Amino acid sequence: MESLKQENTDLKRSLRLLTTKVEQNEQLLRSFFDMEIRLFSCSNLAELLDLILVEFKDHFQLSAVNLMLLDPENAARDLLESYTPPQPEHSLRFVDNQQLLKSLFPTQTLRVGELSPPLKSIAFPRTPYILSSALLPLIRHNCLIGSLHLGSNDPDRYSDHFDYDYINHLASVIAVCIENCINQQNMKRLSIIDMLTKVYNRRAFDQEIIKELSRASRHDRPLSCLFIDLDYFKLVNDNFGHQIGDKVLRAIGLLLRQNLRKTDFVARYGGEEFAILLPNCDSHKAMQISDQLRNKIAHMVIHNSDNTPFRISASIGVTHCTSASFTFDDLNAQAHALLKAADEAVYQAKEKGRNRVEYRALPNMKPELFSAFDTRDTSLSPVSIND
Ligand code: GH3
Ligand code: MG
Ligand code: MG
Repeated sequence: MESLKQENTDLKRSLRLLTTKVEQNEQLLRSFFDMEIRLFSCSNLAELLDLILVEFKDHFQLSAVNLMLLDPENAARDLLESYTPPQPEHSLRFVDNQQLLKSLFPTQTLRVGELSPPLKSIAFPRTPYILSSALLPLIRHNCLIGSLHLGSNDPDRYSDHFDYDYINHLASVIAVCIENCINQQNMKRLSIIDMLTKVYNRRAFDQEIIKELSRASRHDRPLSCLFIDLDYFKLVNDNFGHQIGDKVLRAIGLLLRQNLRKTDFVARYGGEEFAILLPNCDSHKAMQISDQLRNKIAHMVIHNSDNTPFRISASIGVTHCTSASFTFDDLNAQAHALLKAADEAVYQAKEKGRNRVEYRALPNMKPELFSAFDTRDTSLSPVSIND
């Protein structure tokens, strides 16, 4: 009777332990499902990385979460141009080939437990106190595309004794999400970016000018528009070849991006023509900026294939509008009027000798004088071959 009672007590205790374990597993499963839904709902790579690097750490009570991504063509890095991991101890590393990933995962399978010092320095370069870890291979189409490192300062957190089906599943989800985000963002980017110069294309500009006109009128702010046409560009191609011509266009794209605000919009409007929108910028400021750009372009030294330096120049047409500029509501017609004025201003700059900035007011606006900006550098002949 006594032994039966004892057996009963033992059984009850085992059942309690089992129930607790089931509850814990259920909770764990739910938290994995939660995370899975959030991973799938990320709409861009930066958001996805923030979720993985920051929120995984809190959510799964980890000491470190690091990520290594295979990025042979800089596709991810291009999309993340201005992204930095949110906390300094997070490490986000890009590798150009699979060598390092293959050394971490010779059999393409999860790696758990304590790491050797060399592996620890690869997986957790900024957090040497990690005592146990799970290194998850990220695999797509049978190919290693990255590695996720979950680290804990509890030596028993990750060990060979446990089953890691959930974590393995999560790694598959993460690999799919990373690939999807990169592909989707790249496709969108391809449709709005000019691949040669990396500034926006004409299609994007035509959409942006409508948005900016509407914004300018809503907030009663000025909007300036610049047209830049490179001078005698045909001679660059004729003298040095098309490839050097392309190199010049790339250099101009970079110069414009580097010398304007993030909120300004730079596009390649045609072959050797660039169009720029300067939101919240009046005509005086726009003329000042244009002359600085003209000056920087004129002083930029480019080398041809023989490494001989040469320079080019640009003619810039400027116009601007305010909410009072238009007597009509049609945004497309407003955009057309603005572009026409900027184009006429470029034409005027060409007529007056090139390498200069000209302003053209919209038809219903009072003409403005900008004598201070008639600063043509006559010592510099366009496409001057000698430095
Ligand atoms: P202007 O000072 O009157 O503007 O003279 P220009 O020679 O710059 O003007 P033109 O319109 O006669 O020539 C433009 C040249 O731009 C002709 C074309 O070969 C070149 N071009 C257009 N697109 C590209 C391109 O993508 N790459 C290269 N290398 N050249 C291009
Ligand atoms: Mg042209
Ligand atoms: Mg030209």
